[in-house]
Amino acid sequence: MNAETVKPFRIGAEWRDGRGQTISSIYAGDGSVIGTVARATPRDVDDAVVVAEKAFRSSPWRKLRPDQRATTLYEIGRRITAEREALAQLQMLDSGKPLKECQNMVDNAAYFFRYYAALCETWQNEVTSPRGEYFSMSLAEPYGVIAAITPWNSPIMAEAQKVAPALAAGNAVLLKPSEETPQLALELARICTEAGLPDGLLTVLPGYGEDVGAALVKHPGVRMVSFTGGTETGRAIGAIAGQRLIPVGLELGGKSPHIVFDDADFDKAVAGVASGIYGSAGQSCVAGTRLFVQKSLYGRFMDALVERSRNVRVGMPHDPKTQMGPLVSRAHRDKVAGYVDLARSEGGRVLVGGGLPDDPALANGWFYQPTVIEGLPNTARACQEEIFGPVLVCLPFEDEADVIAQGNGTVYGLAAGMWTGDYARAWRVARELQAGSVWINTYKQSHIATAFGGFKASGIGREKGFHGLRLYSQVKSVFFGMHEKPLGL
Ligand code: NAD
Repeated sequence: MNAETVKPFRIGAEWRDGRGQTISSIYAGDGSVIGTVARATPRDVDDAVVVAEKAFRSSPWRKLRPDQRATTLYEIGRRITAEREALAQLQMLDSGKPLKECQNMVDNAAYFFRYYAALCETWQNEVTSPRGEYFSMSLAEPYGVIAAITPWNSPIMAEAQKVAPALAAGNAVLLKPSEETPQLALELARICTEAGLPDGLLTVLPGYGEDVGAALVKHPGVRMVSFTGGTETGRAIGAIAGQRLIPVGLELGGKSPHIVFDDADFDKAVAGVASGIYGSAGQSCVAGTRLFVQKSLYGRFMDALVERSRNVRVGMPHDPKTQMGPLVSRAHRDKVAGYVDLARSEGGRVLVGGGLPDDPALANGWFYQPTVIEGLPNTARACQEEIFGPVLVCLPFEDEADVIAQGNGTVYGLAAGMWTGDYARAWRVARELQAGSVWINTYKQSHIATAFGGFKASGIGREKGFHGLRLYSQVKSVFFGMHEKPLGL
């Protein structure tokens, strides 16, 4: 890829070059510029809404039966898979995530399109209920133009998670990817067009949140907003949507408790806790960021975890031996380092990590060491706020009641995990944890058919499975009368 060439975006049939305004994509492995995309502005939002509204009204897409839409969705999935290696490479360069993770994300993106195509095959879009002199049906209808706003931490996957069900439900989509990782959304739009999606039904606007994102949320032509990102941004978007009385789906941040009971399989628990925090270098909304270990096991467990953390292979994203890559940007790494400094100043003890890696080969990238901190109360800022890096805070606990209270003791409620040999206990504790996903003797597993979303300040609504189709549909009930006599008063 030529970093100098500006990759344009397209509104309907027209290419836009950003009128000289661009966004650079930077490889987090070494800080080099790997590409440049045209930057959209609020004026482009106005134009894109007009084009999307027209496409929604005039193209047959919204009136097709869901099973008829399936053909195009299958074709998009097939083409994503056909371009797997090139897309994964591009995502690796754009996001700094290790290549293997990027390959998995591309596979998942293709699966989203295939899955919603398959659901469309059986989704009949109506429920009938005969009632003597009339019968009624409830129809799922698209909203029209919807805005999808996504973060940088799993670009093509988060984008497909929204675009596939939104299109399956018959909507036109305006997608604003993160300014940190705009490349894959543009590729997705190209693939959708090549797969036969009518012009204007998917428009990608690579821009910044405060202008393009905010303009989308405020635009009267946008009938629904689906957002994934930080809780504060979600609050701002939710407030505007509340004023406008339009529906929102909000997938927000987390500070997930990861619990180890003293009857857990020790080795599996150590490995599970490490993978729960260091996967994606901790840049995962569901990362297990607060570790709770039962007191009787605490010392032995921490020794093993520190040893394991020390041995995590931090390296360049393209190196197949790499287990943990860099953080997305210099600014983000500074933020993560700032939290570790704060934890130290509040009395936290850094047991391992807590700085930049020594390896000179990593000196130009935005790497941070796997870091384990203990000695802080659950109320400390490092235990309450989302750090979004490879930083684990660890606390001992007494018993079930204690860990449930501490585990639930943040504003967040995205996910939780636990390791125990007692399934009756696992069930009891799972029912008490305030979290949208609870993992027992595993962590961070996900399935396309299983609902995903947050409790409390981690979000509103659910994605994946049938929940995805419902999120992007509004329901209209129609009654047909077959009365023998005129209606009485
Ligand atoms: P962010 O909130 O800064 O940005 C997310 C998106 O919102 C970006 O596209 C950004 O440009 C846009 N945006 C920013 N301000 C906006 C505004 N005022 N109006 C409209 N759009 C605006 O988040 P981020 O740093 O890109 O991503 C990391 C966050 O995302 C973390 O908090 C993480 O937990 C969360 N996340 C949540 C999930 C989930 O499914 N719950 C998944 C991935 C990431």
